[in-house]
Amino acid sequence: MDENIILSGLKETFKFDSFKSSLQENAIKEICQRKNDVLVSMPTGSGKSLCYQLPAVLHPDKVTIVFSPLLALIKDQVDHLQALHVRAASLNSKTLKAERDSLMADLKCKQTLTRLLYITPEQAATHTFRSLFDYLVKFDKVAYIVVDEAHCVSQWGHDFRPDYLKLGDLRISPSIPCLALTATAGADVTKDIIKNLKLSNNLKVFKTSCFRANLFYDVFYQNMLENPFMHLKKFIDECLKGDSEDVKMGDRGCGIVYCRTREQTEVVSNKLNSLGVQSRCYHAGLRNADRLEYQEAWQKGEYTVICATISFGMGVDKATVRFVVHWGVPKDPASFYQESGRAGRDGKPSKCRIYYNRADCRAIEFHLSHDLAKAKDKESRKAKAETAIKGFKKMVEYCENANACRHKLFTDHFGEPPPKCSKRCDICKDKKAVEKMVEEFHVKSIE
Ligand code: ADP
Ligand code: MG
Ligand code: ZN
Repeated sequence: MDENIILSGLKETFKFDSFKSSLQENAIKEICQRKNDVLVSMPTGSGKSLCYQLPAVLHPDKVTIVFSPLLALIKDQVDHLQALHVRAASLNSKTLKAERDSLMADLKCKQTLTRLLYITPEQAATHTFRSLFDYLVKFDKVAYIVVDEAHCVSQWGHDFRPDYLKLGDLRISPSIPCLALTATAGADVTKDIIKNLKLSNNLKVFKTSCFRANLFYDVFYQNMLENPFMHLKKFIDECLKGDSEDVKMGDRGCGIVYCRTREQTEVVSNKLNSLGVQSRCYHAGLRNADRLEYQEAWQKGEYTVICATISFGMGVDKATVRFVVHWGVPKDPASFYQESGRAGRDGKPSKCRIYYNRADCRAIEFHLSHDLAKAKDKESRKAKAETAIKGFKKMVEYCENANACRHKLFTDHFGEPPPKCSKRCDICKDKKAVEKMVEEFHVKSIE
């Protein structure tokens, strides 16, 4: 397809002056060729919808079928498209008969006007939909099969939907390209998406790199510091010294200290306050109203540091987080990536540090092996417990060694080549110094 056609569709139909990123542009250009299956893996908010909506409007007489997990999401999309004068519809248990009849009539006539048809995975399994789908395929009327939120086909993803598995059955015609879109794609999830959706060997992948060059990662050992809290305070002061006096309260630098237990959040928070760092704690034991208030006050910049258990962070999107500390070892690489990744959303240099503590590790190991023992012969539970142990071991290895760039933990996890770190972690910055520290840690830990 001609590039000018794509560009004019972008401008005239979707009213955008340019692509949001070169990744979005390249994905759309590839998809418009209708040659290969495509997997798009980009963070939330990066414009994945356009990757199928723009190609969909450029194929007259054909319809693009979009599988999306929630009616609410579907409604948003359909309303948005209709406001742009794009013919979009959805077929679900709530569709009224009259609407359904006119939709069917349009889909079955020669010059179909509907460009996008949204379907829930539950609906996809119905007889009504299957016979409609067979008809559309037979008369070569399907432009693309799109699976949005494609991580739902994976048991490793955070919201597995068994109905998504059946979408693989729709690959009855190799000439219809399948597009899978997701924001969450570790190597395991990606493998599942490819396998369960039966994506072809010629799959083209468009993926944002997980490497965050503005984040500096390092590790310190609590038991080797004379005063770990003083060390933490100094670190915090250093991270926050960039703000000038006149910066608005909500835009001031701030930070998160993740702790494993409620008690730890309280201890760390109290220590910080006594050292002159404004801080509060946040955990599941607080009353809902208090939790919300603390979170909002932190978001507004009323205090600097929130000491929290990992329940904190869902839906938190504050741009000026200058540091994320893990007081103790994180759970696994995926959690660590997500939690530490809350730093530096504005793209400015920010720091992610672990204050490692082996005693804490023992407690976690104990819990994990307990979970495994409890799983006994329940296969799926056992597999989950084993995965948790594997993930945790990776974190221990990460903390107790100076072998590789800190960012490599993530690129390995997401199946990417090692990053060009150049001094964005303690090991790449000064390997010798970290090796010496690790060595001393091991000596001291045997004593
Ligand atoms: P995702 O599905 O990746 O989370 P969306 O498709 O919902 O992201 O898009 C996020 C936002 O980006 C939407 O408000 C959308 O209108 C906007 N957007 C998408 N493409 C462009 C573009 N080329 N230029 C400007 N804004 C865009
Ligand atoms: Mg989306
Ligand atoms: Zn590095």
